[in-house]
Amino acid sequence: MALFNDQKISLRWRRTKIIATIGPATDSVKGVDELIKAGVNVFRLNMSHGDHVYHRRVFNRIRRCAKKANAIVAILMDLCGPKIRVGLFENGRIDLKRNARVIISCGSGVGREGLIISQYKHLYKDVKAGERILLDDGNMECRVEEVKGKEVLCKVVYGGVLKNNKGMNLPDSTVSAASFTSKDKEDVLLAMELGADFIALSFVRSAKDILALKKHMQKTGRELPVIAKIEKPEAVKNIDEIIDTAYGIMIARGDLGIELPAEEVPLIQKEIINKARARNSPVIVATQMMESMIVNARPTRAEVGDVANAAMSSADAVMLSAETAAGKYPVKAVRMMDRVLREIERYQWEKESFGDSIGKGHEPTSSRRAIAHAANTLAKELKLQGILVPTRSGNTATVLSSCRPSSPLLGISACDETCRKLALHWGIIPFLTKKQKVRDWKVLSQDISERCQLTKTGNKVLLVSGFNEDASLNEPVLKIIKVKT
Ligand code: PEP
Repeated sequence: MALFNDQKISLRWRRTKIIATIGPATDSVKGVDELIKAGVNVFRLNMSHGDHVYHRRVFNRIRRCAKKANAIVAILMDLCGPKIRVGLFENGRIDLKRNARVIISCGSGVGREGLIISQYKHLYKDVKAGERILLDDGNMECRVEEVKGKEVLCKVVYGGVLKNNKGMNLPDSTVSAASFTSKDKEDVLLAMELGADFIALSFVRSAKDILALKKHMQKTGRELPVIAKIEKPEAVKNIDEIIDTAYGIMIARGDLGIELPAEEVPLIQKEIINKARARNSPVIVATQMMESMIVNARPTRAEVGDVANAAMSSADAVMLSAETAAGKYPVKAVRMMDRVLREIERYQWEKESFGDSIGKGHEPTSSRRAIAHAANTLAKELKLQGILVPTRSGNTATVLSSCRPSSPLLGISACDETCRKLALHWGIIPFLTKKQKVRDWKVLSQDISERCQLTKTGNKVLLVSGFNEDASLNEPVLKIIKVKT
């Protein structure tokens, strides 16, 4: 039996956030408008595709569409890192036939049937005869037969249609590429200039990779929050230091499931979600979540189960890649994801089991988290309709979010950058407000409760404030406020 009076109010907001990758299927004004309307919280620009002119145009378009829709949506710019990719093809794609011979060339030019151009120019140095080269998230496989100069001669083991810029993995080889590439350095400058909300770093191996990116940003301007993509076995091993160094984590299952045996990925996913939550870091589950919707109007039952599982594990966000970037049904994919997440969240809300999955060894340790738990308990037991958190940096709201409260959680800030950052975090409804001259919590709570139709007359909300980025300066306040009409 649920504790809350008004299920309708509480479940109006989806807790698990949706990230959509923008691409040719959705990069128009209409495409962005529709995705925002369907409920996208964060847009991903994948720097592996498109040039700076393209990304600048799409970035500004997203900002304009969000403003028009009065929606708070963030933009995450995803750096390629040392991701190895194939180049372009004359016709945008080639057909790899089983047992056929194909040359992977480290030279320049454009590929065609029988010829793949590698974007990674040192490939010929890193691979040896007998090793596997996997293509397009492991959907196709070639075996190296010989390395001749800068050309790698291969036999196709598993064929398929290979399209422009698809990924290449070398699970049997030691890759010598640097973690933070010269292309990344240029892309970071663009992200900083445009004012991206998050920057994702691919193929992170240790905290050092993130520190290199941060140092680069500090040298040239303001540091953006870094999302570390976990897709290498080394990153899984070094996960604690990576969580401590990065702002957030993306479980990039596409490459992770190729670099490691795929059967290991589900438990790694679960463990990383728990570890990230325990440290108050947002965690994203990515890749192949609605993969079949690239071509079909309905997802497979297994895909629905995968999205449901991510919500049950209490991930902050789930991500769509090709489904929204290049698929036939991008808006349907977001709507479907939204419906699955809401169904799970309805169940969790009724069972009061939001956040139950954290598991042993991940309980709160800091005083901040203890207070956040207290706030959650108060809201639950006193049937408070919402938790309102005025926040400058977003810190107080994110600590509360990591405890996965059942009540709607409003992150209230006068800073639009903070609001957009909060758009990624589980359960936070970012609310942009005018600068408060007088800190009258009662007036603020009344005003916001009314504007979001959060509650009815006589109901109460909980206001939490006073966490500082420097924990020694914390002066937490928990205030119960009665709302009237
Ligand atoms: C992944 O590998 O799962 C991923 C998200 O990275 P990308 O889309 O850049 O290959």
